Amino acid sequence: MKNLKKATGLFFLPVFLLAFTTTSVHKRTGVVKSKPADEYYSFEDFATVKKFDVHIHINTEEPYFIEQAKKDNFNFLDIVDDRPFGLPMAEQQKIAILDLQKYPGLLNFATTFTVKDYNNEDWVQQTIAALKQSFAKGAKVVKIWKNVGMDLRDSKGKFVMLDDPRIDSVVSFLEKNHIPLIGHNGEPKDCWLPLDKMTFSKEYYSAHPEYHMYLHPEYPSYQAQIDARDHMLQKHPHLKFVGAHLGSLEWSLDELAKRLDKYPNMSVDLSRMSNLQLHTLKDREKTRNFFLKYQDRLVYGTDKAINATTKPEELAKTTHISWVNDWKFYATDELIALKGFGDLKGLKLPKKVIDKIYYLNAKKWLQ
Ligand SMILES: [Zn+2]
Repeated sequence: MKNLKKATGLFFLPVFLLAFTTTSVHKRTGVVKSKPADEYYSFEDFATVKKFDVHIHINTEEPYFIEQAKKDNFNFLDIVDDRPFGLPMAEQQKIAILDLQKYPGLLNFATTFTVKDYNNEDWVQQTIAALKQSFAKGAKVVKIWKNVGMDLRDSKGKFVMLDDPRIDSVVSFLEKNHIPLIGHNGEPKDCWLPLDKMTFSKEYYSAHPEYHMYLHPEYPSYQAQIDARDHMLQKHPHLKFVGAHLGSLEWSLDELAKRLDKYPNMSVDLSRMSNLQLHTLKDREKTRNFFLKYQDRLVYGTDKAINATTKPEELAKTTHISWVNDWKFYATDELIALKGFGDLKGLKLPKKVIDKIYYLNAKKWLQ
């Protein structure tokens, strides 16, 4: 390195002239800036760039994931869910509050609300009161889950969709108070297709026919989920909304783009990576242009569920590897294998775009 510096000094003039055509020179200082090196991050930059993962579920008080996040330069959003399996909602939230106190500045958390008493007359008031308590304890965001639209029924037995008037009252409260809402609404489109027409979920739905909506036509359709979400956004134009899992439009960048155009306060998290890689495999330029065009509306998130473990080294290693692999896809143009489909080239997005999707958009959204 030292020798190179010496050599550059010796031959300063010719190097400067040569560089002039391909690089820019700062007007006042005359410092030569090499453009290619400035515009992109390298694979090795992973550790030094500040990053944010906006879709994490922490289900344990163990510190192993958090230690790895620190090492890999990640802030994260811990999302509390109202799901019928695993750790109950209240327990998830207890852990989130503890972590918030233990690791100030490292994480934020998203709270949620129960729909258990949805058919009680005072459900809206009770829900808003519970949310206020969670905000007082540090929650910055609210999550609404797919049980609205796919499980919850009103007193007459009808499915309650996301644009239901009572859900509306809660959403209006959030809109008025500038609190962002994350919506995991519906499922991947695969869920409503026969097994042989699915892109990525065949294995899962073969094992879980009870969740495979193609087999349950009495449940609302995929389109009904998307329409209800769109209708909700139309009614709440000032709501800061983040659609989890590419807003459940993972199968089509065109359909996603239509919503981003129509709803200026909608963003999406990037937690359906296989779909993004498949779009890239099919048409890299189109996918890359999508990222360039919507660089202010995309936030990096992985949907990692962090459970108690007897093998902390393994948890740290798999967490690290998956984050590094994603970085390789976004920041470099190295080859990436998409299992069952083939090899694709990473998107190699400009630094400016990486900084936004990996950090600045999340920060802005959580302000
Ligand atoms: Zn999730």
